[in-house]
Amino acid sequence: MEAMRLHEPADIGEAPLQREEVARPEPGPGQVRLKVRVCGLCHTDLHTVEGELDLPKLPLTPGHQVVATVDARGPGAERYAVGERVGVAWLYWTCGECDYCQSGLENLCPNAQFTGLHADGGYGEYMVVDERFAYPLPGAFSDAEAAPLLCAGIIGYRSLRLSGIQPGQRLGLYGFGASAHLAIQVATHWDCEVYVFTRSENHRQLARELGAVWVGSAKDDINVGLHGSVIFAPAGWIVPLALGHLRPGGTVAINAIHMSPIPEFDYDLIYGERILRSVANFTRQDAEEFLQLAAGIPIRAEVELFPQTAANEALRKMKASEIRASAVLEIGD
Ligand SMILES: [Zn+2]
Ligand SMILES: [Zn+2]
Repeated sequence: MEAMRLHEPADIGEAPLQREEVARPEPGPGQVRLKVRVCGLCHTDLHTVEGELDLPKLPLTPGHQVVATVDARGPGAERYAVGERVGVAWLYWTCGECDYCQSGLENLCPNAQFTGLHADGGYGEYMVVDERFAYPLPGAFSDAEAAPLLCAGIIGYRSLRLSGIQPGQRLGLYGFGASAHLAIQVATHWDCEVYVFTRSENHRQLARELGAVWVGSAKDDINVGLHGSVIFAPAGWIVPLALGHLRPGGTVAINAIHMSPIPEFDYDLIYGERILRSVANFTRQDAEEFLQLAAGIPIRAEVELFPQTAANEALRKMKASEIRASAVLEIGD
């Protein structure tokens, strides 16, 4: 089978992913082998190939927004029939035994493994995964539409939850890429007033189309206090500005696995019981809740398709904010 493989991280401009022939994986106990149809691109893939994350496995096939069909079942795997369509997301495996796993916080499991980081992911034609970490996908979505829901969508949903935002309240979204363009659809479904802060004219246009009541820059004054907000851009300088837009008692949730340093700021910005918190991964419950909600709204992901072999180019365009919403690779033939 063919896969786009990472041997050594490098700037995406140097095209670190190489097209390679590798052996098709065999499913172990409880695992299914998946024939990948499409795989969405995520900023975490970029942090992976550029080496901003520690890489426990090299060479590696990245990709963690995988839409696939079950191709074979390992011993004891019975949840899905061969031929069934499933999705795989960032959470590849958790131990089920630690304090976090046992208290509904498997996203913080210290033994967790992540798709396309600890295990080969969806930039290749086949992959294997524990069947408990594969999700049934609502029929309402095409393969390409379903892919961005699997990370951008799920983690955007968890971020909204952790921002504490309630229906009808004022929400801020900082950065407006793949995740935010899905989160805004959940927020407007909840009748929130959404303020979008982004520099990209492309992204501003999309935000207006999706119902933002205000669009501008993080440096702008908005003259009202936001009840909650989510920072999607991995830029630390935004944090004090987002706190400055927040009402007392509100929360800024940071949806980033990696962020540039946060500048020093005055205590006044966080006084008034404002909360600053990060969002780390998600749980299977988040995934299942979100996929149901997404089908019910229904959320529409705007996607730009690329062939599997164009993975480097697609990541480069994503880094340069040249993708209007979500980039998706079509895998195999
Ligand atoms: Zn655990
Ligand atoms: Zn992701």
